[in-house]
Amino acid sequence: MAIKTSAFGYPKIGPNRELKKVVESYWAGQISKEDLFKQTEEIQIQRLKTLKEAELDYIPSNDFSLYDFILDISTMLGVIPKRFGNSYDLDTYFAMARGSKTAIACEMTKWFDTNYHYIVPEFENEFKLLKNRPLDSYKFAKEKLGIETKPVLVGPFTYIWLGKVPQKQEGTLIVHMVKARESDKFKELVNSVSKVYNQILKELESNGVKAIQLDEPALVLDIDESDVEVLIEAYKNLTDGIKNLEIFVHTYYESLSNYENIVFNLPVQGIGLDFTINDENFENLKKYGFPKDKKLIAGIVSGRDPWKIDFAKTVDFVNQILKFVDEDRLILSNSSPLFHLPVSLEPEKGHLDERLIELLSFANERLDELKTLKKIFNEGLPIPKQNLQALRDEFKDEEVRKKIAQIDEKNIGRKESFKERYVKQISLLGLPKFPTTTIGSFPQTKEVRKARADFTSGKISQDDYENFIKNQIKNAIEIQENLGLDVFVHGEFERSDMVEFFGQKMKGFAFTKNGWVQSYGTRCVRPPIIYGDVSRPEPMTVKEITYAQSLTSKPVKGMLTGPVTILNWSFYRKDIPKKEIAYQIALALSEEVLDLERAGIKIIQIDEPAFREGLPLKKSKQKEYLEWAVNAFKLTNEKVKPETQIQTHMCYSEFNEIIEYIYAMDSDVILIEASRSKGEILDAFEKFNYDHGIGPGVYDIHSPRIPSVEEMLEIAERSVKLIDKNLIWINPDCGLKTRNWEEVIPSLQNMVQVARIMRQRYGD
Ligand code: GLN
Ligand code: ZN
Repeated sequence: MAIKTSAFGYPKIGPNRELKKVVESYWAGQISKEDLFKQTEEIQIQRLKTLKEAELDYIPSNDFSLYDFILDISTMLGVIPKRFGNSYDLDTYFAMARGSKTAIACEMTKWFDTNYHYIVPEFENEFKLLKNRPLDSYKFAKEKLGIETKPVLVGPFTYIWLGKVPQKQEGTLIVHMVKARESDKFKELVNSVSKVYNQILKELESNGVKAIQLDEPALVLDIDESDVEVLIEAYKNLTDGIKNLEIFVHTYYESLSNYENIVFNLPVQGIGLDFTINDENFENLKKYGFPKDKKLIAGIVSGRDPWKIDFAKTVDFVNQILKFVDEDRLILSNSSPLFHLPVSLEPEKGHLDERLIELLSFANERLDELKTLKKIFNEGLPIPKQNLQALRDEFKDEEVRKKIAQIDEKNIGRKESFKERYVKQISLLGLPKFPTTTIGSFPQTKEVRKARADFTSGKISQDDYENFIKNQIKNAIEIQENLGLDVFVHGEFERSDMVEFFGQKMKGFAFTKNGWVQSYGTRCVRPPIIYGDVSRPEPMTVKEITYAQSLTSKPVKGMLTGPVTILNWSFYRKDIPKKEIAYQIALALSEEVLDLERAGIKIIQIDEPAFREGLPLKKSKQKEYLEWAVNAFKLTNEKVKPETQIQTHMCYSEFNEIIEYIYAMDSDVILIEASRSKGEILDAFEKFNYDHGIGPGVYDIHSPRIPSVEEMLEIAERSVKLIDKNLIWINPDCGLKTRNWEEVIPSLQNMVQVARIMRQRYGD
């Protein structure tokens, strides 16, 4: 008897983002469809080779995708909205993801609480199996490498849960959709799709496939008894008549909900549980045990965080699990898909601090960990010697720890009430009613990007670069003067990315050379790694902001990225609570805030566009998160004078359920997204009396159109009905860095016009 290993969700992008390059050249018409297939086959073969070398007992297949694995299922099952025509080919596939001349793209949304985004299925017709992707991919691996694989795909329950059902149509473009889970069709949809899954499985079985993995991460969400009934019914359909195919259902990102009922009653051969995220699955295992007739796929190396495992501790943990599961029924695995991690640590050697390298594991290193663990158990390999804690201690900063320990969580925040502060601020700043402002960034033109690249590669000197930035700032100030805006920004020309910029200036952050992670389709990001205690060695933004302020008598805003956003867009350490990391970043930022105030800056904006992203998947845990997230934000600015105005910016529309926490952030002014959601966000204010300054973005910066005065007025007018007119600001709904000046100037001209009209209508 021996312990087995399994893996899944290995990155699709290739070690050097080959997938991005191939697919984007196909879109640009530079390569043919045949070339696309040939080159992506290469990437797939490389992936399979790496997986084969990991000596897994279950090598995954069907976890490669040209764009998105949910879109793969939709196009496999004929879930193709009518607007894309009635024949299906590769271009239909990409059109669904990106839109075409005749059809708007399907919606894209965040995959659970990760930074991956999937294409939302639209259930408007019957399911019909157009092609059996898992089978094709099984055969591919067998033909090319002669290996037996376990196809992986998202299971029927989660697939339906994530989709939407069209309701009524408005005009030609807008279709109102309801989340499938919240529609009255949920049960029926899961039921009918499970029959098509059964067809897929039957074909797999008759082609000699031995095992399949069905991912059901929706089972970690807040599901109720009736959901479990729907699930079990579906799996009865799905497994009907299947005899020789092992079916493993995987859950991850959180602990399985309704553990006892699902683990014991789901008619499958194996259950995958995430043991890396917290100890709840293990607690349930101890409490309820594990069925004797099932296999446990134990997720013991994380797909989400990049920290190397502690071998001694992991071996000990596996031994604990063995008290509840027989050795020949235990399969060790990664807990969640590996594509949340970069491909390999190899390119970082010589780039990152050696000690940090010792602490990290990316996807390839996770496979090595599984291989080593198997050898420890099955071949008696000695446990590798490690000293992780000693290494971590080298990045410890006692000063920072002391400050965190002194925080009195019950008394965080500014002492004067908003009302007292706001009166002082408005009179000091001399602002009119309906003040106009922007969100921070101005166009990052080719010229700006080239200057930055030239500076990074050493082509131009620091002085030349700084002068270049100064000129950009000067130009932006002139433009804002001419437009007649009330509150200015410096334009953020010196920043490539709003998190990277601050991370590079703070201690405790590391940046990889090649640590790309897929965010959606061909878009990849390189998240910073927070590995040590965070502090700010010196001012980060004061030079540029004070220079901008010296050019004008109008107030120029200090511009910072908030602590919660910096944290949520980074890989963060696991040896201290997430809350403490947020507080560390907040304290570092608070020093910057005070430096700006001391330098004469009267308004400071602290952006939190990712405030909502860290929201826990289980409702019962959300309150705790929101409370410390609010505290972290307040810590950044609690010490400023009452007359210093704090603004913040957020840009998403699911705002309603967290509005009380946004209010609790106690920002003097909040600039939010409202135009894209057609003012839907304003509904929140019908129920909630938001009596702080607020700028409901009057135009959508994501569209290249120049918004008319009339359409912006509509949102401004709607706001006046819901919010005190003395508190309303007029602004776009996000930063303007992706636009060009030819769009920005006329758009802002119109926006200023809107403010003037509002002042005439409502007095100043
Ligand atoms: N201040 C940032 C900008 O204008 C905010 C970006 C964001 O919301 N993501 O670019
Ligand atoms: Zn934004």
